[in-house]
Amino acid sequence: MQRVDVAVVGGGPAGSSAGRAAAAEGADALVIEKGVPRADREGLGPDSTDAAGILDYWVDIMDLDVPIPEHVKLRELSGADFIGPNASVEMDETGIDSSYPNFGFTFQRARMDDWLRKRAEDAGAEYRVGTGVREVESDLRGSPTHQLTLKDGTEIEAEYLILADGPQRTITGQVLEPLLPDGQYDGLASTTANHIAYQEYREFPEELLETDRLKFWWGHMPGHTAYPWVFPNDGQVARVGLTMPIGLDLDTVENREDYALLRPEDERVPAGKEYISRLLEHAYPSYDAEDFPLLEDRGKAKGTETYPISSTRPIESPTAANVAVVGGAMGATSAFHEGGDHVAIRSGKEAGRLAGLGALRAYNYEWKRAIGEEVRRNVVLADMVRDYGPSDWDRVFGLASAMQPDEGGRTDWLDAIRAGPGALKLFAQYQWGKFQVRDGGYCQVREGDYSV
Ligand SMILES: Cc1cc2nc3c(=O)[nH]c(=O)nc-3n(C[C@H](O)[C@H](O)[C@H](O)COP(=O)(O)OP(=O)(O)OC[C@H]3O[C@@H](n4cnc5c(N)ncnc54)[C@H](O)[C@@H]3O)c2cc1C
Repeated sequence: MQRVDVAVVGGGPAGSSAGRAAAAEGADALVIEKGVPRADREGLGPDSTDAAGILDYWVDIMDLDVPIPEHVKLRELSGADFIGPNASVEMDETGIDSSYPNFGFTFQRARMDDWLRKRAEDAGAEYRVGTGVREVESDLRGSPTHQLTLKDGTEIEAEYLILADGPQRTITGQVLEPLLPDGQYDGLASTTANHIAYQEYREFPEELLETDRLKFWWGHMPGHTAYPWVFPNDGQVARVGLTMPIGLDLDTVENREDYALLRPEDERVPAGKEYISRLLEHAYPSYDAEDFPLLEDRGKAKGTETYPISSTRPIESPTAANVAVVGGAMGATSAFHEGGDHVAIRSGKEAGRLAGLGALRAYNYEWKRAIGEEVRRNVVLADMVRDYGPSDWDRVFGLASAMQPDEGGRTDWLDAIRAGPGALKLFAQYQWGKFQVRDGGYCQVREGDYSV
Protein backbone atom coordinates (compact mmCIF):
# COMPACT_ATOMS: atom_id res chain seq x y z
CA MET A 1 0.00 0.00 0.00
CA GLN A 2 1.24 3.48 -0.87
CA ARG A 3 1.64 5.78 2.14
CA VAL A 4 1.59 9.57 1.84
CA ASP A 5 1.50 12.45 4.28
CA VAL A 6 -1.35 14.25 2.53
CA ALA A 7 -3.97 12.77 0.18
CA VAL A 8 -6.22 15.16 -1.73
CA VAL A 9 -9.47 13.88 -3.26
CA GLY A 10 -10.25 15.93 -6.40
CA GLY A 11 -7.91 17.83 -8.69
CA GLY A 12 -9.88 21.00 -9.50
CA PRO A 13 -8.69 24.46 -8.42
CA ALA A 14 -9.02 23.65 -4.72
CA GLY A 15 -7.35 20.23 -4.90
CA SER A 16 -4.41 21.32 -7.06
CA SER A 17 -3.78 24.28 -4.77
CA ALA A 18 -3.89 22.04 -1.73
CA GLY A 19 -1.45 19.58 -3.30
CA ARG A 20 0.94 22.34 -4.25
CA ALA A 21 0.90 24.00 -0.84
CA ALA A 22 1.40 20.70 1.01
CA ALA A 23 4.32 19.73 -1.23
CA ALA A 24 5.84 23.19 -0.87
CA GLU A 25 6.04 22.54 2.88
CA GLY A 26 7.97 19.35 2.20
CA ALA A 27 5.08 16.88 2.58
CA ASP A 28 4.60 13.84 0.41
CA ALA A 29 1.36 14.95 -1.31
CA LEU A 30 -0.88 13.01 -3.69
CA VAL A 31 -3.78 14.58 -5.61
CA ILE A 32 -6.29 12.07 -6.99
CA GLU A 33 -8.55 13.25 -9.81
CA LYS A 34 -11.08 10.91 -11.38
CA GLY A 35 -10.75 12.73 -14.71
CA VAL A 36 -13.39 13.77 -17.23
CA PRO A 37 -13.05 14.31 -20.98
CA ARG A 38 -13.62 17.67 -22.68
CA ALA A 39 -13.78 18.60 -26.35
CA ASP A 40 -11.17 21.32 -25.82
CA ARG A 41 -8.61 19.39 -23.76
CA GLU A 42 -6.38 16.47 -24.67
CA GLY A 43 -6.64 13.60 -22.22
CA LEU A 44 -8.59 13.50 -19.01
CA GLY A 45 -8.58 16.36 -16.54
CA PRO A 46 -10.66 17.89 -13.79
CA ASP A 47 -14.33 18.62 -14.28
CA SER A 48 -13.85 22.15 -15.55
CA THR A 49 -17.34 23.58 -16.03
CA ASP A 50 -17.10 27.26 -15.21
CA ALA A 51 -18.21 30.54 -16.78
CA ALA A 52 -14.69 31.53 -15.78
CA GLY A 53 -14.75 35.14 -14.73
CA ILE A 54 -12.56 36.63 -12.01
CA LEU A 55 -13.06 40.01 -10.32
CA ASP A 56 -10.12 42.24 -9.44
CA TYR A 57 -9.96 41.60 -5.69
CA TRP A 58 -10.42 37.85 -6.18
CA VAL A 59 -6.87 37.76 -7.55
CA ASP A 60 -5.59 38.98 -4.17
CA ILE A 61 -7.76 36.45 -2.34
CA MET A 62 -6.20 33.63 -4.41
CA ASP A 63 -2.74 34.60 -3.11
CA LEU A 64 -0.99 32.83 -5.98
CA ASP A 65 2.55 34.29 -5.55
CA VAL A 66 2.80 34.91 -9.33
CA PRO A 67 0.46 36.58 -11.84
CA ILE A 68 -1.99 34.37 -13.74
CA PRO A 69 -0.32 33.79 -17.13
CA GLU A 70 -1.74 35.56 -20.17
CA HIS A 71 -2.39 32.31 -22.09
CA VAL A 72 -4.95 31.39 -19.42
CA LYS A 73 -6.87 34.65 -19.76
CA LEU A 74 -9.44 35.39 -22.47
CA ARG A 75 -10.71 38.95 -21.91
CA GLU A 76 -9.88 41.87 -19.67
CA LEU A 77 -13.07 43.36 -18.22
CA SER A 78 -14.14 46.92 -17.55
CA GLY A 79 -17.39 46.15 -15.74
CA ALA A 80 -20.56 44.13 -15.29
CA ASP A 81 -24.21 44.88 -16.03
CA PHE A 82 -27.03 43.67 -13.81
CA ILE A 83 -30.27 43.73 -15.75
CA GLY A 84 -33.68 43.56 -14.09
CA PRO A 85 -37.02 43.46 -15.92
CA ASN A 86 -37.24 47.27 -16.08
CA ALA A 87 -34.21 48.66 -14.24
CA SER A 88 -30.50 47.97 -14.53
CA VAL A 89 -27.25 48.75 -12.76
CA GLU A 90 -23.89 49.20 -14.43
CA MET A 91 -20.95 48.37 -12.19
CA ASP A 92 -17.54 49.61 -13.28
CA GLU A 93 -15.74 49.06 -9.98
CA THR A 94 -16.08 46.27 -7.47
CA GLY A 95 -15.53 48.75 -4.63
CA ILE A 96 -13.06 46.47 -2.87
CA ASP A 97 -9.36 47.28 -2.66
CA SER A 98 -7.33 45.29 -5.13
CA SER A 99 -3.93 45.13 -6.75
CA TYR A 100 -5.38 44.02 -10.12
CA PRO A 101 -5.58 46.99 -12.53
CA ASN A 102 -8.87 46.17 -14.30
CA PHE A 103 -12.39 45.23 -13.17
CA GLY A 104 -11.41 41.60 -13.75
CA PHE A 105 -10.98 39.12 -16.59
CA THR A 106 -12.45 36.01 -18.11
CA PHE A 107 -10.31 32.91 -18.60
CA GLN A 108 -10.25 29.45 -20.12
CA ARG A 109 -11.00 27.12 -17.24
CA ALA A 110 -9.30 24.00 -18.66
CA ARG A 111 -6.10 25.99 -19.23
CA MET A 112 -6.35 27.38 -15.71
CA ASP A 113 -6.72 23.86 -14.33
CA ASP A 114 -3.72 22.65 -16.33
CA TRP A 115 -1.65 25.55 -15.04
CA LEU A 116 -2.67 24.89 -11.43
CA ARG A 117 -1.86 21.20 -11.88
CA LYS A 118 1.61 22.03 -13.27
CA ARG A 119 2.28 24.29 -10.30
CA ALA A 120 1.38 21.43 -7.97
CA GLU A 121 3.64 19.01 -9.85
CA ASP A 122 6.50 21.53 -10.00
CA ALA A 123 6.27 21.87 -6.21
CA GLY A 124 6.69 18.08 -5.91
CA ALA A 125 3.10 16.85 -5.55
CA GLU A 126 1.94 13.78 -7.48
CA TYR A 127 -1.20 14.46 -9.56
CA ARG A 128 -2.82 11.17 -10.51
CA VAL A 129 -5.67 11.36 -13.03
CA GLY A 130 -7.94 8.70 -14.50
CA THR A 131 -9.21 6.76 -11.48
CA GLY A 132 -11.46 8.24 -8.84
CA VAL A 133 -11.57 7.54 -5.12
CA ARG A 134 -14.23 4.96 -4.36
CA GLU A 135 -14.08 4.83 -0.60
CA VAL A 136 -12.36 6.29 2.43
CA GLU A 137 -12.08 4.55 5.77
CA SER A 138 -10.80 6.60 8.66
CA ASP A 139 -9.19 5.26 11.80
CA LEU A 140 -9.67 7.97 14.38
CA ARG A 141 -8.11 6.16 17.34
CA GLY A 142 -4.95 7.85 18.56
CA SER A 143 -3.33 9.71 15.70
CA PRO A 144 -5.92 9.61 12.88
CA THR A 145 -5.15 7.97 9.53
CA HIS A 146 -7.20 7.48 6.41
CA GLN A 147 -7.28 4.60 3.99
CA LEU A 148 -8.39 5.47 0.46
CA THR A 149 -9.50 2.85 -2.04
CA LEU A 150 -9.52 3.92 -5.66
CA LYS A 151 -11.96 2.59 -8.23
CA ASP A 152 -9.22 0.33 -9.67
CA GLY A 153 -8.61 -1.20 -6.22
CA THR A 154 -5.41 0.73 -5.41
CA GLU A 155 -5.08 1.44 -1.68
CA ILE A 156 -3.44 4.49 -0.20
CA GLU A 157 -2.90 5.43 3.42
CA ALA A 158 -2.64 9.07 4.41
CA GLU A 159 -2.10 10.96 7.64
CA TYR A 160 -4.02 14.00 6.39
CA LEU A 161 -7.06 13.95 4.14
CA ILE A 162 -8.10 16.98 2.11
CA LEU A 163 -11.54 16.71 0.52
CA ALA A 164 -11.71 18.72 -2.71
CA ASP A 165 -14.28 16.68 -4.62
CA GLY A 166 -16.46 19.66 -5.49
CA PRO A 167 -20.03 20.54 -4.57
CA GLN A 168 -21.40 17.05 -5.25
CA ARG A 169 -19.42 15.87 -2.19
CA THR A 170 -19.42 12.21 -3.18
CA ILE A 171 -16.48 11.34 -0.92
CA THR A 172 -16.89 14.30 1.43
CA GLY A 173 -20.35 12.98 2.33
CA GLN A 174 -18.98 9.51 3.07
CA VAL A 175 -16.37 10.94 5.43
CA LEU A 176 -18.44 13.59 7.20
CA GLU A 177 -21.82 11.93 7.63
CA PRO A 178 -20.71 9.41 10.30
CA LEU A 179 -19.07 12.22 12.29
CA LEU A 180 -22.23 14.33 12.49
CA PRO A 181 -25.32 13.82 14.65
CA ASP A 182 -28.14 11.92 12.93
CA GLY A 183 -29.71 13.92 10.15
CA GLN A 184 -27.32 16.88 10.19
CA TYR A 185 -25.60 15.81 7.01
CA ASP A 186 -28.95 15.71 5.18
CA GLY A 187 -28.89 19.48 4.70
CA LEU A 188 -25.61 19.15 2.80
CA ALA A 189 -26.59 16.16 0.66
CA SER A 190 -26.75 16.82 -3.04
CA THR A 191 -30.24 15.33 -3.16
CA THR A 192 -31.64 18.14 -1.03
CA ALA A 193 -29.39 21.04 -1.93
CA ASN A 194 -29.11 20.85 -5.66
CA HIS A 195 -29.09 23.45 -8.36
CA ILE A 196 -28.18 22.80 -11.95
CA ALA A 197 -25.82 24.91 -14.03
CA TYR A 198 -26.04 24.79 -17.80
CA GLN A 199 -24.08 26.76 -20.36
CA GLU A 200 -23.41 26.95 -24.07
CA TYR A 201 -20.64 28.38 -26.21
CA ARG A 202 -22.30 30.73 -28.70
CA GLU A 203 -20.83 32.89 -31.45
CA PHE A 204 -22.34 36.38 -31.30
CA PRO A 205 -23.02 38.77 -34.16
CA GLU A 206 -20.14 41.27 -34.15
CA GLU A 207 -22.31 44.27 -33.31
CA LEU A 208 -23.81 42.65 -30.20
CA LEU A 209 -21.06 41.28 -27.98
CA GLU A 210 -19.55 43.67 -25.49
CA THR A 211 -16.22 41.98 -25.12
CA ASP A 212 -15.24 43.74 -21.90
CA ARG A 213 -18.41 43.32 -19.81
CA LEU A 214 -20.18 40.53 -17.96
CA LYS A 215 -23.97 40.54 -18.12
CA PHE A 216 -26.42 39.06 -15.64
CA TRP A 217 -30.22 39.02 -15.90
CA TRP A 218 -32.06 38.96 -12.58
CA GLY A 219 -35.79 38.51 -12.07
CA HIS A 220 -36.16 36.89 -15.49
CA MET A 221 -36.61 33.29 -14.38
CA PRO A 222 -38.17 31.95 -11.16
CA GLY A 223 -36.26 30.28 -8.32
CA HIS A 224 -33.72 31.12 -5.65
CA THR A 225 -30.45 32.30 -7.25
CA ALA A 226 -31.80 31.42 -10.68
CA TYR A 227 -30.32 33.70 -13.31
CA PRO A 228 -28.76 33.66 -16.76
CA TRP A 229 -25.55 35.36 -17.87
CA VAL A 230 -23.28 36.17 -20.81
CA PHE A 231 -19.50 36.03 -20.34
CA PRO A 232 -17.28 37.12 -23.26
CA ASN A 233 -14.67 34.59 -24.32
CA ASP A 234 -12.26 34.77 -27.25
CA GLY A 235 -13.24 36.48 -30.53
CA GLN A 236 -17.02 36.78 -30.83
CA VAL A 237 -17.63 33.77 -28.62
CA ALA A 238 -19.41 34.02 -25.28
CA ARG A 239 -20.50 31.53 -22.70
CA VAL A 240 -24.22 31.90 -22.21
CA GLY A 241 -25.35 30.07 -19.13
CA LEU A 242 -27.66 29.90 -16.16
CA THR A 243 -28.18 28.33 -12.79
CA MET A 244 -31.53 27.24 -11.39
CA PRO A 245 -32.83 25.04 -8.60
CA ILE A 246 -33.79 21.50 -9.53
CA GLY A 247 -37.39 20.45 -9.13
CA LEU A 248 -39.06 23.87 -8.94
CA ASP A 249 -42.83 23.50 -9.34
CA LEU A 250 -44.16 26.25 -11.62
CA ASP A 251 -47.54 26.09 -9.87
CA THR A 252 -45.87 27.49 -6.74
CA VAL A 253 -44.47 30.54 -8.56
CA GLU A 254 -46.28 33.76 -7.75
CA ASN A 255 -46.91 36.29 -10.55
CA ARG A 256 -45.36 33.96 -13.08
CA GLU A 257 -46.44 36.22 -15.93
CA ASP A 258 -43.83 38.75 -14.70
CA TYR A 259 -40.93 36.44 -15.59
CA ALA A 260 -39.76 37.36 -19.08
CA LEU A 261 -38.33 33.93 -19.83
CA LEU A 262 -41.48 32.00 -18.97
CA ARG A 263 -44.34 31.48 -21.43
CA PRO A 264 -48.03 31.05 -20.52
CA GLU A 265 -48.05 27.57 -22.06
CA ASP A 266 -45.13 26.30 -19.90
CA GLU A 267 -46.27 23.40 -17.77
CA ARG A 268 -42.90 22.94 -16.14
CA VAL A 269 -39.68 24.91 -15.81
CA PRO A 270 -38.07 25.05 -19.26
CA ALA A 271 -34.85 23.10 -19.88
CA GLY A 272 -31.58 25.08 -19.82
CA LYS A 273 -31.27 24.95 -23.61
CA GLU A 274 -34.73 26.43 -24.07
CA TYR A 275 -34.11 29.11 -21.46
CA ILE A 276 -30.94 30.20 -23.25
CA SER A 277 -32.60 30.48 -26.60
CA ARG A 278 -35.41 32.54 -24.98
CA LEU A 279 -32.83 34.74 -23.27
CA LEU A 280 -31.02 35.51 -26.53
CA GLU A 281 -34.25 36.45 -28.28
CA HIS A 282 -35.43 38.50 -25.30
CA ALA A 283 -32.14 40.37 -24.76
CA TYR A 284 -31.48 40.98 -28.47
CA PRO A 285 -35.05 41.36 -29.81
CA SER A 286 -34.26 41.90 -33.48
CA TYR A 287 -32.30 38.63 -33.65
CA ASP A 288 -33.22 34.94 -33.57
CA ALA A 289 -31.43 32.36 -31.41
CA GLU A 290 -30.04 30.87 -34.66
CA ASP A 291 -28.09 34.11 -35.20
CA PHE A 292 -25.89 32.94 -32.29
CA PRO A 293 -24.51 29.60 -33.56
CA LEU A 294 -23.52 26.96 -31.03
CA LEU A 295 -19.80 26.06 -31.15
CA GLU A 296 -19.81 22.29 -30.87
CA ASP A 297 -16.04 21.80 -30.62
CA ARG A 298 -15.87 23.22 -27.09
CA GLY A 299 -16.92 22.35 -23.59
CA LYS A 300 -17.96 19.01 -22.20
CA ALA A 301 -20.49 17.85 -24.79
CA LYS A 302 -20.94 19.46 -28.21
CA GLY A 303 -20.59 23.04 -27.06
CA THR A 304 -22.65 22.60 -23.90
CA GLU A 305 -21.86 21.96 -20.26
CA THR A 306 -24.12 20.76 -17.50
CA TYR A 307 -23.02 20.63 -13.92
CA PRO A 308 -24.85 19.87 -10.68
CA ILE A 309 -24.12 22.30 -7.85
CA SER A 310 -25.10 22.25 -4.19
CA SER A 311 -26.57 25.33 -2.68
CA THR A 312 -25.48 25.32 0.95
CA ARG A 313 -23.65 27.52 3.37
CA PRO A 314 -19.97 26.85 4.07
CA ILE A 315 -18.99 24.22 6.62
CA GLU A 316 -16.16 23.99 9.10
CA SER A 317 -13.93 20.90 8.97
CA PRO A 318 -13.33 18.11 11.50
CA THR A 319 -9.66 19.00 11.88
CA ALA A 320 -9.23 16.77 14.95
CA ALA A 321 -9.76 13.88 12.51
CA ASN A 322 -6.94 15.29 10.31
CA VAL A 323 -9.56 16.18 7.69
CA ALA A 324 -10.01 19.47 5.84
CA VAL A 325 -12.81 20.19 3.38
CA VAL A 326 -12.02 22.84 0.75
CA GLY A 327 -13.56 24.76 -2.17
CA GLY A 328 -16.88 23.62 -3.59
CA ALA A 329 -17.00 20.63 -1.23
CA MET A 330 -16.96 22.95 1.79
CA GLY A 331 -19.70 25.11 0.27
CA ALA A 332 -17.38 28.12 0.19
CA THR A 333 -18.41 28.78 -3.35
CA SER A 334 -22.10 28.21 -3.38
CA ALA A 335 -23.96 31.25 -2.07
CA PHE A 336 -23.85 32.74 -5.57
CA HIS A 337 -22.97 29.76 -7.64
CA GLU A 338 -20.72 31.16 -10.27
CA GLY A 339 -18.26 32.88 -7.96
CA GLY A 340 -15.86 30.43 -6.53
CA ASP A 341 -12.47 29.80 -8.07
CA HIS A 342 -10.83 32.33 -5.79
CA VAL A 343 -12.19 30.86 -2.55
CA ALA A 344 -11.53 27.32 -3.85
CA ILE A 345 -7.90 28.13 -4.63
CA ARG A 346 -7.34 29.92 -1.34
CA SER A 347 -9.07 27.42 0.93
CA GLY A 348 -7.10 24.66 -0.82
CA LYS A 349 -3.89 26.55 -0.28
CA GLU A 350 -4.56 27.09 3.43
CA ALA A 351 -5.50 23.45 4.02
CA GLY A 352 -2.50 22.13 2.06
CA ARG A 353 -0.07 24.45 3.79
CA LEU A 354 -1.30 23.51 7.26
CA ALA A 355 -1.43 19.79 6.50
CA GLY A 356 2.11 20.03 5.12
CA LEU A 357 3.22 21.70 8.33
CA GLY A 358 1.40 19.15 10.50
CA ALA A 359 -0.77 21.97 11.87
CA LEU A 360 -4.18 21.26 10.36
CA ARG A 361 -5.95 22.04 13.65
CA ALA A 362 -5.61 25.73 12.68
CA TYR A 363 -7.49 25.30 9.38
CA ASN A 364 -10.94 26.55 10.42
CA TYR A 365 -9.36 29.64 11.90
CA GLU A 366 -7.08 30.22 8.92
CA TRP A 367 -9.66 29.83 6.15
CA LYS A 368 -11.90 32.33 7.89
CA ARG A 369 -9.02 34.76 8.15
CA ALA A 370 -8.30 34.30 4.43
CA ILE A 371 -11.78 34.15 2.84
CA GLY A 372 -14.25 34.63 5.70
CA GLU A 373 -15.22 38.18 4.78
CA GLU A 374 -15.89 37.23 1.16
CA VAL A 375 -17.95 34.18 2.13
CA ARG A 376 -19.91 36.14 4.73
CA ARG A 377 -20.76 38.88 2.21
CA ASN A 378 -22.01 36.31 -0.30
CA VAL A 379 -24.05 34.38 2.25
CA VAL A 380 -25.79 37.55 3.46
CA LEU A 381 -26.50 38.83 -0.04
CA ALA A 382 -27.86 35.45 -1.14
CA ASP A 383 -30.15 35.37 1.90
CA MET A 384 -31.40 38.90 1.24
CA VAL A 385 -32.44 38.12 -2.32
CA ARG A 386 -33.71 34.60 -1.66
CA ASP A 387 -37.38 35.35 -2.29
CA TYR A 388 -37.01 38.26 -4.68
CA GLY A 389 -39.42 38.40 -7.61
CA PRO A 390 -39.09 40.56 -10.74
CA SER A 391 -40.46 43.75 -9.13
CA ASP A 392 -38.04 43.38 -6.18
CA TRP A 393 -35.11 43.31 -8.59
CA ASP A 394 -36.33 46.46 -10.30
CA ARG A 395 -36.72 48.20 -6.92
CA VAL A 396 -33.25 47.15 -5.74
CA PHE A 397 -31.54 48.09 -8.99
CA GLY A 398 -33.29 51.47 -8.85
CA LEU A 399 -32.05 52.03 -5.30
CA ALA A 400 -28.55 50.82 -6.13
CA SER A 401 -28.34 53.30 -9.01
CA ALA A 402 -29.46 56.08 -6.66
CA MET A 403 -26.71 55.22 -4.15
CA GLN A 404 -23.75 56.90 -5.81
CA PRO A 405 -20.70 55.16 -4.38
CA ASP A 406 -17.62 57.18 -3.45
CA GLU A 407 -14.55 57.21 -5.67
CA GLY A 408 -13.31 53.63 -5.74
CA GLY A 409 -16.85 52.29 -5.97
CA ARG A 410 -17.42 51.72 -2.24
CA THR A 411 -20.92 52.43 -0.88
CA ASP A 412 -21.10 53.74 2.69
CA TRP A 413 -23.79 54.93 5.10
CA LEU A 414 -23.58 58.49 3.80
CA ASP A 415 -24.27 57.36 0.22
CA ALA A 416 -27.26 55.37 1.48
CA ILE A 417 -28.64 58.28 3.54
CA ARG A 418 -28.29 60.66 0.59
CA ALA A 419 -30.18 58.22 -1.67
CA GLY A 420 -33.28 58.25 0.55
CA PRO A 421 -35.18 55.98 2.95
CA GLY A 422 -35.47 52.97 0.60
CA ALA A 423 -31.75 52.87 -0.03
CA LEU A 424 -30.98 53.39 3.63
CA LYS A 425 -33.25 50.50 4.59
CA LEU A 426 -31.59 48.21 2.07
CA PHE A 427 -28.11 49.16 3.20
CA ALA A 428 -29.07 48.73 6.87
CA GLN A 429 -30.58 45.31 6.10
CA TYR A 430 -27.28 44.22 4.56
CA GLN A 431 -25.18 45.52 7.47
CA TRP A 432 -27.54 43.90 10.00
CA GLY A 433 -27.38 40.61 8.10
CA LYS A 434 -23.59 40.70 8.26
CA PHE A 435 -23.66 41.45 11.97
CA GLN A 436 -26.00 38.53 12.64
CA VAL A 437 -23.59 36.01 11.11
CA ARG A 438 -20.40 37.44 12.62
CA ASP A 439 -17.76 35.13 14.13
CA GLY A 440 -18.42 32.30 11.68
CA GLY A 441 -22.19 32.32 12.22
CA TYR A 442 -22.55 31.93 8.44
CA CYS A 443 -21.34 28.30 8.68
CA GLN A 444 -23.87 25.50 8.29
CA VAL A 445 -21.74 23.04 10.30
CA ARG A 446 -19.37 24.10 13.10
CA GLU A 447 -16.32 22.19 14.24
CA GLY A 448 -17.99 21.37 17.58
CA ASP A 449 -20.80 19.55 15.73
CA TYR A 450 -18.45 16.70 14.78
CA SER A 451 -17.87 13.89 17.21
CA VAL A 452 -14.20 13.02 16.80
C1 LIG B 1 -21.66 26.92 -14.68
C2 LIG B 1 -20.71 27.43 -13.66
C3 LIG B 1 -20.13 28.67 -13.83
C4 LIG B 1 -19.19 29.14 -12.91
N1 LIG B 1 -18.59 30.34 -13.13
C5 LIG B 1 -17.60 30.78 -12.31
C6 LIG B 1 -16.93 31.99 -12.57
O1 LIG B 1 -17.22 32.68 -13.54
N2 LIG B 1 -15.95 32.37 -11.72
C7 LIG B 1 -15.61 31.63 -10.63
O2 LIG B 1 -14.71 32.01 -9.88
N3 LIG B 1 -16.24 30.46 -10.35
C8 LIG B 1 -17.22 30.04 -11.16
N4 LIG B 1 -17.88 28.86 -10.90
C9 LIG B 1 -17.57 28.16 -9.66
C10 LIG B 1 -16.29 27.36 -9.80
O3 LIG B 1 -16.37 26.54 -10.94
C11 LIG B 1 -16.13 26.53 -8.57
O4 LIG B 1 -16.18 27.34 -7.44
C12 LIG B 1 -14.79 25.78 -8.58
O5 LIG B 1 -14.74 24.91 -9.67
C13 LIG B 1 -14.63 25.00 -7.30
O6 LIG B 1 -13.41 24.33 -7.36
P1 LIG B 1 -13.19 22.95 -6.60
O7 LIG B 1 -11.80 22.52 -6.92
O8 LIG B 1 -13.59 23.11 -5.20
O9 LIG B 1 -14.25 21.96 -7.23
P2 LIG B 1 -14.40 21.42 -8.72
O10 LIG B 1 -13.88 22.37 -9.72
O11 LIG B 1 -15.80 20.95 -8.83
O12 LIG B 1 -13.42 20.16 -8.73
C14 LIG B 1 -13.72 18.96 -8.04
C15 LIG B 1 -12.96 17.86 -8.73
O13 LIG B 1 -13.09 16.66 -7.98
C16 LIG B 1 -13.15 15.58 -8.88
N5 LIG B 1 -13.77 14.46 -8.16
C17 LIG B 1 -15.04 14.37 -7.71
N6 LIG B 1 -15.24 13.19 -7.08
C18 LIG B 1 -14.05 12.54 -7.14
C19 LIG B 1 -13.62 11.28 -6.67
N7 LIG B 1 -14.43 10.43 -6.03
N8 LIG B 1 -12.33 10.91 -6.89
C20 LIG B 1 -11.48 11.75 -7.53
N9 LIG B 1 -11.85 12.95 -8.03
C21 LIG B 1 -13.12 13.35 -7.82
C22 LIG B 1 -14.00 16.11 -10.03
O14 LIG B 1 -13.77 15.39 -11.22
C23 LIG B 1 -13.51 17.56 -10.13
O15 LIG B 1 -12.47 17.73 -11.07
C24 LIG B 1 -18.85 28.37 -11.78
C25 LIG B 1 -19.45 27.11 -11.59
C26 LIG B 1 -20.36 26.65 -12.53
C27 LIG B 1 -20.95 25.30 -12.32
